[in-house]
Amino acid sequence: MSLHQKSVAELSAGLAAGEFSSRELTQYFLDRIGTHDGALNSFVTLTAEQALAQADVADTTRKAGDAGPLTGIPVAQKDIFCTQGVRTTCGSRMLENFIAPYTATVVRNMEQAGCVMLGKTNMDEFAMGSSNETSYYGAVKNPWGVEQNLVPGGSSGGSAAAVAGGLAPAATGTDTGGSIRQPAAISNLTGLKPTYGRCSRYGMIAFASSLDQAGPLAKSAEDCALMLGAMAGFDTADSTSVDAPVPDYTATLSEPMKGRKLGLPKEFLSDAVDPETREATDNALATYRNMGAEIVEISLPNMHLSVPTYYVVAPAEASSNLARYDGVRYGHRAEGVENLEDLYKRSRGEGFGAEVQRRIMVGTYVLSAGYYDAYYLKAQQVRRLISDDFVKAFEQVDAIIGPTTTGPAFAIGELVDDPVQMYLNDIFTIAANLAGLPALSMPAGFSGGKPVGVQLIGKVFDEAGILNAAHQFQQVTDFHRAMPEGFK
Ligand code: GLN
Repeated sequence: MSLHQKSVAELSAGLAAGEFSSRELTQYFLDRIGTHDGALNSFVTLTAEQALAQADVADTTRKAGDAGPLTGIPVAQKDIFCTQGVRTTCGSRMLENFIAPYTATVVRNMEQAGCVMLGKTNMDEFAMGSSNETSYYGAVKNPWGVEQNLVPGGSSGGSAAAVAGGLAPAATGTDTGGSIRQPAAISNLTGLKPTYGRCSRYGMIAFASSLDQAGPLAKSAEDCALMLGAMAGFDTADSTSVDAPVPDYTATLSEPMKGRKLGLPKEFLSDAVDPETREATDNALATYRNMGAEIVEISLPNMHLSVPTYYVVAPAEASSNLARYDGVRYGHRAEGVENLEDLYKRSRGEGFGAEVQRRIMVGTYVLSAGYYDAYYLKAQQVRRLISDDFVKAFEQVDAIIGPTTTGPAFAIGELVDDPVQMYLNDIFTIAANLAGLPALSMPAGFSGGKPVGVQLIGKVFDEAGILNAAHQFQQVTDFHRAMPEGFK
């Protein structure tokens, strides 16, 4: 098996057995990026020199007998995480030249675990999007359909394409409404959004602060367990991070599924789901039944309100978070301006793309006097109803299962002119963000030859439970082992 076909766990074993060094492994992936990224555009910035230096440190650590499971493993970081000394663009022209003076806690934690950073990955501008087409640095192609111009999903599209194409063994993503799970689903990856508060948001450029969470994108649940173990943890620099110990997520992967109750919300099986995606979900349910799990039909009656609720709450928070990019405090500054107002207007007009401007306008509107009660306050109330639906459901079941998306990847350009259709990509993922729950997507089959995923939503802080369930699924299926033609 070639190195890019191996999982993080397999690469970790290879490093431990001395089959290759971290420097060799890192050079291998840098070469893969050199050969294949021209077709994908998954990286915005490469950090080859720094990566090789980190690899040498990892090799030294290993010689000294101090290696952990991730020591010397190359990873890609979504370009939303601040990295000291390395440009952080957040997919925007606004931050084209931004070099953060500090490193995000998640990245720092991974460095401390011995990970090697290959570079920063492309993403939808300020993480707003589902296709990576809103990036100032160009669209990203899904390795599962380069000729067909398939999108890798978004907003963590560069991370998804890099891992799916074997240009990095694993990558980080962020998920505000589905940005880890939707790209994972349509790029044949396993991706996990942890419980809100599990990973520190310090140094992760804010989109909608009450929803944003960092998490891993990788080939398997086991790899996500290893990655999350390094990423997670309490951080005094993020008041919303939770002071609870980080379990060893790999320790419980082998627990049997027998007697486990998985809830299937009837709202997840709407006519909007394409027949082959539905079939993949049905097959996954059958697989779990064969393993001794019980499938229970449940209802999340307010599910249909999650997209409209999100598109009030998220833009509201974004309009406030993005106020700092005014050409004075942060970001692109327009030239030849006439006065202060002109500076603000032109800097923001030039620095932000159309989708970001749309969100800022919607967000400002729903927060404005006279509309606040009708939109923002109402959305907060509905958000509570959606959360309460989950509380009730989890009285009956251990985890919730359903399709991650309504169908497979679409082509670049197909949905850009129809924002509402684009927003519906996250119809099954957004509710977990609104309720703060952990959720993952795992490969479950194909629709028209294109990958589709199944989502597992867990109880609060039960990342271990859904990782375990996904790992068990991956012990008896091999969808997650499939790699796209041209990248095998
Ligand atoms: N696609 C959603 C949006 O555009 C979610 C993005 C995300 O999770 N960052 O807002």
